Amino acid sequence: MLKKVLIVDDSALIQQMYKMMFARYKCTIVTAQNGRLGLDKLAQHPDVDLVMLDINMPVMNGLEFIKKVKELGAYERIPIIISSTEGTEEFTKQGMELGASGYVTKPVQPSELHGLIESLLMVSR
Ligand SMILES: [Mg+2]
Repeated sequence: MLKKVLIVDDSALIQQMYKMMFARYKCTIVTAQNGRLGLDKLAQHPDVDLVMLDINMPVMNGLEFIKKVKELGAYERIPIIISSTEGTEEFTKQGMELGASGYVTKPVQPSELHGLIESLLMVSR
């Protein structure tokens, strides 16, 4: 089930793009501009079903965010999809090792994102 998604990305444009890509699931979208704010949003919305996570962000980056989420334990079951930028494959690898469930490469192709979501969450349109 995909009822609520948390998008953690410092780019307003990327957030907007995800909102369009997630429209088909008719889910609620919660956003945060960095990992620290993302943790706050998780505390406010513990029923989030999926996190879309940028790596490169100010204040707290995506890798630190994953570490924190796993440390806290309470949100461990929530799948995290990393969005990586070309040239940052090493960070993607680290994110997967830290416990991310999958990744997409920017610019994100809707079909790639939908395929990943549907296999991770067993949801369809
Ligand atoms: Mg960024």
